[in-house]
Amino acid sequence: MITTETVKGDIREKMFSELADKSIFDQAKQYAFDYADNSMTRNVYPTQEAIKALAKFDEQLPETSMDASKVLEMLHVFGSPATVSQIGGRYFGLVNGGIIPTALAAKWLSDFWDQNTPLYVTSPIASKLESVVENWLIQLFNLPSDTAAGFVSGSSMAIMCGLAAARWRIYERLNYDVNAKGLINAPKIRIVAGRHVHGTVLKAIALLGLGKDNIEWVDVDDQGRILEENLPELDDKTVLVLQAGNVNSGSFDNFDSICAKAKKANSWVHIDGAFGLWASGSKRLRHLTSGIENANSWSVDGHKTLNTPYDCGIILCHDNEALVSALQATGSYIVYGDERDGMLYTPEMSRRARIVELWATMKYLGLEGIDALVFGLHQRAIQFSSELREQGFQVLNEVVFNQVLICYENDELTQKTLEAVQESLECWCGAAKWKGQLVIRISVCSWSTTSEDVTRSVAAFSKAYHSLKEE
Ligand SMILES: *Cc1c(COP(=O)(O)O)cnc(C)c1O
Repeated sequence: MITTETVKGDIREKMFSELADKSIFDQAKQYAFDYADNSMTRNVYPTQEAIKALAKFDEQLPETSMDASKVLEMLHVFGSPATVSQIGGRYFGLVNGGIIPTALAAKWLSDFWDQNTPLYVTSPIASKLESVVENWLIQLFNLPSDTAAGFVSGSSMAIMCGLAAARWRIYERLNYDVNAKGLINAPKIRIVAGRHVHGTVLKAIALLGLGKDNIEWVDVDDQGRILEENLPELDDKTVLVLQAGNVNSGSFDNFDSICAKAKKANSWVHIDGAFGLWASGSKRLRHLTSGIENANSWSVDGHKTLNTPYDCGIILCHDNEALVSALQATGSYIVYGDERDGMLYTPEMSRRARIVELWATMKYLGLEGIDALVFGLHQRAIQFSSELREQGFQVLNEVVFNQVLICYENDELTQKTLEAVQESLECWCGAAKWKGQLVIRISVCSWSTTSEDVTRSVAAFSKAYHSLKEE
């Protein structure tokens, strides 16, 4: 007999009472606030003790259900100290954005909504916000008004969507149904990319079956920009990948003339603008993205320059049919409607409502706030490079956006200085190879980086370097 009664200690009964009682949410809130209060001053990278203590998590899956508050407590006591402090202002690794408080608060609220967003019918609010933000992005980036946006997990996925749309469109022109027939026995299409293309573009090319070995490489200048005179002949079977924001130097390809040339040849241009596309949002940096409107697709992150919470990428495509056709999915229970159905523009079906945070960030900042945010990152990067130069360090790139590359007399000294800076826990930066040389990458990408943070970080570099020289 099926019964609706619950036995004492039943897990569902427990969960109903946790939802009603809400004390675990108060507990989580208290932990989060303690974390936030500590985050501006604490060590950027976890201490060795904190990392050792992670061994606490090496345990068997528990036999019985636990007290909810104990689960949270374990995360706070052993998890919080082992985080990399992203919300403070002295993390300069990768290209990692900070977090806008309003966006974080909006995320908390929408966590309770727990929306699934493939279709209008599964979440009218998510569908509405996606439509609104699509228009805002078109306006901000000055793209053609019939550009379509898909909201994905990050640029990796957005780049894949852009190249999938390109692939679909080029094969469609060749009268070849790539979705049905696949790439086995397909006619050849061409991929042209600069030598400094991001690794996630290569990954997308591999995943899409286009093959990295098929790339026609174009040499780049000393900042990583495509050398226009080295571009091969372009045609309507070509995908050309450009970038707004070189992941190391922050440089931008010359979109004005390259995109116009590609458009004439009817090639498909995809612009990887993971962090750099936001230059469009700053009056004083907008010149860097001039000409992007002539491309066919653009990928960009919310979670870098715009400082939304993580897991926020966007594909923008000026070919609605190609994007939707490349990402199509069907099933008798999937009911597309007249309103926006988000899954038409993404590889995923089920998705969380990440649009809430993107909407909240843009609504909160407005055009003025976005301008101030983006230009502020640039200013801090300029400050970094000039203070480092004053200390006698070598800055290798033109600081056109938010990236600074430095090195010392030789690779060994660069490596040791970097290690000493990392061990100081004062700030965090990573390394890269730049024209065969080891370099330290400094990416200023958080709104919370102050000029004091920059000065303090430069001091950490200075101290590390001079104590090595004295050895
Ligand atoms: C970060 C980055 C990517 C990858 O983006 P994810 O959001 O990490 O997937 C691609 N291209 C460039 C230039 C990047 O900086």
